[in-house]
Amino acid sequence: MPTSPPRPARASADNQQPPLPRPGAPLRTERLLLTTVAASDLEFLTRLHSDPAAFAHDTTPPLTSPAQMAHVMEQWEERRLAGGCGYALVSLPGADAPVPIGVAGLKTLPLNGEDVLNLYVRISPAHWRRGYAREALRALLAQVDEAFPGKRAVIVTDAGNAPMRALSASLGFHETDEQEPGFGAPHVIAQRFCGAGRYAPSPSGDLHLGNLRTAVLAWLFARREGRRFVMRVEDLDRVKPGAAERQLEDLSALGVDWDGPVLYQSSRADAYREVLADLTGRGLCYECYCTRAEILAAPSAPHAPPGAYPGTCRELGAAQREAGRARMAELRRTPALRLWADDPAHTVYDRFAGRYTGQVDDTVLTRGDGVVAYNLAVVVDDAFQGVGQVTRGDDLLSSAPRQAWIGSLLGIAAPEYVHVPLALNGEGKRLAKRDGAVTLRERLARGESRADVIGLIATSLGYPGVRSLPELLGVFDPAAMPREPWIVSGE
Ligand SMILES: [Zn+2]
Repeated sequence: MPTSPPRPARASADNQQPPLPRPGAPLRTERLLLTTVAASDLEFLTRLHSDPAAFAHDTTPPLTSPAQMAHVMEQWEERRLAGGCGYALVSLPGADAPVPIGVAGLKTLPLNGEDVLNLYVRISPAHWRRGYAREALRALLAQVDEAFPGKRAVIVTDAGNAPMRALSASLGFHETDEQEPGFGAPHVIAQRFCGAGRYAPSPSGDLHLGNLRTAVLAWLFARREGRRFVMRVEDLDRVKPGAAERQLEDLSALGVDWDGPVLYQSSRADAYREVLADLTGRGLCYECYCTRAEILAAPSAPHAPPGAYPGTCRELGAAQREAGRARMAELRRTPALRLWADDPAHTVYDRFAGRYTGQVDDTVLTRGDGVVAYNLAVVVDDAFQGVGQVTRGDDLLSSAPRQAWIGSLLGIAAPEYVHVPLALNGEGKRLAKRDGAVTLRERLARGESRADVIGLIATSLGYPGVRSLPELLGVFDPAAMPREPWIVSGE
């Protein structure tokens, strides 16, 4: 398992190394060498870009002269020096000297009011059929995933360029209905959010088949798209001793692997404290003395979801706050800390639900028992782990806007969400321990093998006969994923 150093608590593109090769430090892939574009590459690049048959990624017309190409190369160099973006010569490492076959790169592009990363690849027609374009783009993606978690990357393709559209889909880009008037010709914009995928179980007991399927899906989405995959144990409360170790063993037994050390939320108190101090210092939080019963009983704003906080403690005077604290002390609780919500709603992007807007209320940051709220911890830890893709059960879709909004206050870019259907029992209720043999260990105890259990999960995803994760990874197609709940029998 490769390991990587821990990241800063607040991931930000500002302090990252430029993701492209620096002069003298080439990027190597299995078959390719990516080096900084040099003035001596002018002749090759002019030839490449004046060939209308070259594997064009976008609607740029072919160049006709070395002078035009030299001007473009100056722009590339300026972008590289400005940090974060630039272009690389793609070569085959020959016996004597590398043989250039194309160019790949990225630049910041304003797209409908947002700065996105635009990826580019152009491989000479004689070579692109061998998968070099994919290999070069994959190398770039590994770099930008690391440097810009949460940032949106796009590939702009000529609408008629079917091979490039298929290539971008295989790298996890999915086509949007966006258009950029500046491009002129008919084009398709495909997007992919940078960053690692993750799974984050709560160690309250053994994972059941529904949890295992969600973990497998999170792993499939990430690995298929060349992402890192990280693991986090959400052990702030409801911890059953030994459960985390058993969960991780079960995931490993099925073939789910992850990069770097497992992150335990119980080790993150300093990071949460720092973020809470930041939000409090900016005047964004206030103490709340309400009990759950009082919140449910209070009249709520029109259209507010059930249980939404009615704002009772928002604007209390000093005397009222003293009285509230005294009342909390009697109940042996501390006041909860809430975040002021000035935006009534926030929008996130979900792979299946599309643009999803949800109500944002005055979210709890620390609870009355002093525990940091899940909604805050999840955002801080995803940023810390460089996560840009959150695959999880669709019961959490409605909390995604709230989490993304908390992130926005902390300068954390929202990840892409992939909310997947839950597992239900025969009665249509959420799968639970009482539903029979529903954990890996229970299935093994009654004589099934690990391959049988993977087979069960694979069948639920539409791939009967598949019995290992590497095999499933080879055939998994997100577009064909069943969108209804998985009905599981533990009998
Ligand atoms: Zn209150």
